[in-house]
Amino acid sequence: MVGLILSIMLINSAGSVMLTRVYYQNDQERLRILSKHPDILAGRADGKWFDILMGEEEYREFKNMGIRMEIKVYDMDKFFEEKGGAHILINFGEYYTFSEMQTEINQIAQQYPNITKLDTIGWSWYNRPVLAMKISDNPQIDENEPTGLFTGVHHAREPIGCSICMDFIRWLCENYGQPGGAGDTATFLVNEREIWIVPVVNPDGYTYNEQNAQGMWRKNQRDNDNNGYFNSDYDGVDLNRNYGYQWGYDDWGSSPNPPDDDYRGPSAFSEPEVQAIRQLCDVAQPQVAINYHSYSDVILTPWGYIDDYPPEPDRTIYLAMADTMSTNWNGWPYGNPSSTIGYAANGVSDDWMYGEQDEKPKCYAYTFEVGSSFWQAVNDTNIILQQIAETRPCMIYLLYRAQNFVDIKEKKYVYKPLLRKDFITRNPLKSIPEKLLLSSKIYNPLGRKIKNFEKGGVYILKKDKEVYRVLYLK
Ligand SMILES: [Zn+2]
Repeated sequence: MVGLILSIMLINSAGSVMLTRVYYQNDQERLRILSKHPDILAGRADGKWFDILMGEEEYREFKNMGIRMEIKVYDMDKFFEEKGGAHILINFGEYYTFSEMQTEINQIAQQYPNITKLDTIGWSWYNRPVLAMKISDNPQIDENEPTGLFTGVHHAREPIGCSICMDFIRWLCENYGQPGGAGDTATFLVNEREIWIVPVVNPDGYTYNEQNAQGMWRKNQRDNDNNGYFNSDYDGVDLNRNYGYQWGYDDWGSSPNPPDDDYRGPSAFSEPEVQAIRQLCDVAQPQVAINYHSYSDVILTPWGYIDDYPPEPDRTIYLAMADTMSTNWNGWPYGNPSSTIGYAANGVSDDWMYGEQDEKPKCYAYTFEVGSSFWQAVNDTNIILQQIAETRPCMIYLLYRAQNFVDIKEKKYVYKPLLRKDFITRNPLKSIPEKLLLSSKIYNPLGRKIKNFEKGGVYILKKDKEVYRVLYLK
């Protein structure tokens, strides 16, 4: 309902949309705010606040509840006009548009063919590619090296994640084989690690923001009401509520109602963009990951769905690595979402990446909430550079640490041939797992090369002289 009101206002300009800092005194007040499923942009538990985008009606509602509020921006329309809104809408300023990202990542793939592989790991509802770049020596081969995954733009209005991912791709490629400290580091990581980077998980939402909604659209563009076209007052799924671990555990921070900004989708993994990340994880099997979001300047660990942590020793490992990253490079608070940003949410990427340990090994996945606004000082390159400085060393650190978590003489892969279909033709999509696994040499127990995974089931792949052999199928 809240989403509905806001969107109508955005379209009709019937009233101003405000960016309001909402303070809570206690847990009861916090939960009363959260029960409205407001459009939360950021939050900090240490300061007891949320930044919420709201219309006048919602503002009055909160006011009547006795909530203390501080209006940061009274009229978002005006704000964007004055701050160069047209610039944001036309080409995102210093941030990447989707096509700018595509152009650059293709250029890099052509320029550095020996250490990169560019893959389309899935397609959005509007048939835009979800692009993933693998950076490693012998990129066409699965070499059984420690693996890291970095993603940006699950949420369409959080462009800094794309900037950070693209910077890291460039940094690795440009420094590979070069003399000096950065050269040594990049060369080591490229040679000894497999690094997967997905700059834009949500191409439809991101592209939508290039021309609409003041750059404030969050979800993808699923046609929730099946009326054949996209309407912003009802459509879209929150991709960071659609992952399959404890999906829909409760309705806190994750809504069953399509118009809400945190709508989790009709079922776990219902969204093609999230399916793409799932299949990438199933095959690449990263030990470490950072999913980039904004904003709040915090480092998030699991669990998202409850105010608790993974069991030992993982709790200690998670927090110790977060402490290292915070202490050395950005000074951000860290912990689970409840203790840092002030609300729990189920169906989030990190819970699944860590918690799902059956179809793939566990992955120490973090969410970084970068910065202090979505469109941080557009055209101020210094802020983007500072945010890159706050995050790039963390990726390098986690990639080094990934070695500690590797015990992958065996890989387990669950193949689900009917999981993804072209949403127009309903034909099964050729999935990246097949492509990836076929680029390695796969043999069945009798030593015969397997060309395709025709049957769904569990495949155990055993490392044998730089190739995997299938131990057994069931
Ligand atoms: Zn986000």
